[in-house]
Amino acid sequence: MAQVLLKVSGLKVAYGGIQAVKGVDFEVREGELVSLIGSNGAGKTTTMKAITGNLPLAGGDIEYLGKSIKGQGPWDLVRQGLAMVPEGRGVFTRMTITENLLMGAYTRRDKAGINADIEKVFTIFPRLRERKDQLAGTMSGGEQQMLAMGRALLSRPKLLLLDEPSMGLSPIMVDKVFEVVRDVYAQGVTILLVEQNASRALALADRGYVMESGLITMQGGGQELLANPRVRAAYLGE
Ligand code: ATP
Repeated sequence: MAQVLLKVSGLKVAYGGIQAVKGVDFEVREGELVSLIGSNGAGKTTTMKAITGNLPLAGGDIEYLGKSIKGQGPWDLVRQGLAMVPEGRGVFTRMTITENLLMGAYTRRDKAGINADIEKVFTIFPRLRERKDQLAGTMSGGEQQMLAMGRALLSRPKLLLLDEPSMGLSPIMVDKVFEVVRDVYAQGVTILLVEQNASRALALADRGYVMESGLITMQGGGQELLANPRVRAAYLGE
């Protein structure tokens, strides 16, 4: 069996006195695409922020590559191959497309490799190449999503965390984003995907977890969850 890349045990996260994540356990193995689904406010984004060092833990532990990463900051984690595309994109609005992509590579010194990877991103997203000198803040929501994914790829991640990549996008862009997620996964990047679009996310996933009110309430293979009557009733509008 493949190596466990990420192991979350008994994770608790609180905002002031309010517990948003109440003790969750899950793991992601090397080469897997794991989807975390659940309704608004279930605690999915909070879980992602705790993994990437953007929120402190109120309890439990997070192991990456077999070692606890509790207390490590986002910059250290990116250097170790753990990158996140946040909800709402988080591109640098006053920088150009190319400058944003270069920011993604800030931990790297291999100039030739960086240029080759920028070229790769431009091949995946021709729109970014057309606008490479445009300020990111003047791009559409869909274009900013492409840029955020491209920027994360520039860090050459081992584990890529995607928080609601399809949010707010037109149907055509949603198709494009899921296509890219599948391609990146096919290239061997391990992915943890948080999505409201449960049917798309589970269809792609090796395994999935369902989160409700700060707890994991169901887990299983992607297809298995997709066929589960409780999942279909709660998340697929049936
Ligand atoms: P969504 O799909 O709507 O993004 P989610 O599953 O990602 O939902 P979270 O954003 O993790 O949910 O929110 C979990 C809970 O924590 C919610 O009740 C939310 O109101 C609360 N919460 C999130 N961020 C904060 C904050 N900065 N301060 C206080 N409470 C917060």
